[in-house]
Amino acid sequence: MSTESILQKASIKVNDHGGILVNDAVVIDGHEDFHERVVTHVHSDHTTRLSESIRRRQKIIGTPLTLEWLSVVAGFNDPSLFVPLNYDQSYRVGDVKVVFKRAVHIPGTAQVLVEYEDSTTVGYTSDFKKVGRGTDVLQPEILIIDAVYGHPSYVREFDDFIETVLADLINELLSKGPVHLYAYYGKVQEVMQVLRERGVIAPFVLSHKQYSLSKIAEKYGMRFGEYFHVNSREGMEVVRSGWYVYLTHSTSYSRLAGNDRVSHVTLSGWEFTKPYRKIGSNSYLVAFSDHSDFRGLVEYVGLSKPKLLIVNNARSSQGKVFADYVASKLNIKTVVL
Ligand SMILES: [Zn+2]
Repeated sequence: MSTESILQKASIKVNDHGGILVNDAVVIDGHEDFHERVVTHVHSDHTTRLSESIRRRQKIIGTPLTLEWLSVVAGFNDPSLFVPLNYDQSYRVGDVKVVFKRAVHIPGTAQVLVEYEDSTTVGYTSDFKKVGRGTDVLQPEILIIDAVYGHPSYVREFDDFIETVLADLINELLSKGPVHLYAYYGKVQEVMQVLRERGVIAPFVLSHKQYSLSKIAEKYGMRFGEYFHVNSREGMEVVRSGWYVYLTHSTSYSRLAGNDRVSHVTLSGWEFTKPYRKIGSNSYLVAFSDHSDFRGLVEYVGLSKPKLLIVNNARSSQGKVFADYVASKLNIKTVVL
């Protein structure tokens, strides 16, 4: 079957902002004039035009954690529109069934498997890392992927031990004074858990949003040890003690800055040469990513073996490079949309 006829039969399109339209009934991570919209996780490139979907009273399908986090991240809270869907459970939309599968990315992230009445299956990976180690490998006929690190040069040789590197660095810096850590939504909660599992015992101090997100994540089983709201009495006492890790969103300036003893640690997914490097007298950049690197993307597609791979180019600049690589090395039919 030709690529065009496979796409036509399954009725799959990608709209101008990366929304994936399936069977003219459901749109994933974008807006379209349908009754249902799937949100795979709360990152802004996956919640594009959400306010429009809400205004039109569309049902929002997401994992329970993602739906609760939307109220904090996007300031949106209308449970009457929520359709909470747990992993491995299905929800019917018109003629198709939507099933969520696990992914390691930020808390709440789901991959989406769509099952048609004629047993055609379409899968969307959304963002992921740790293929086969927390991220289920979907094996649909048509697989849709965002090739965020789609170029062969996007490889982090140290990915397997970066969590230990980060925890050791934080502990070392804590021996000199407080540490301020900057990361994007969701990554903060992942990192808090990683640090606890790897022996960081200093109390965490959180900005208001990060505190709210953490409280919700705890309801869903995440464990962070001792943490405090930055403006609470206990939080202020911990800050005065000088032994703590303050975690906040990447783009916000540290409200606690101005102390020479403070070390600043920023997490970035766009570092490939070293696990971390010093970028100032007391500032560091750590190559901690929520995404598989190029090798992880190839590994996923190789294990999935779809009849057709659709590379969603709206969220990646290297879609064409990745599609060509998969077509020639893995002998899998690909199309960039
Ligand atoms: Zn993401």
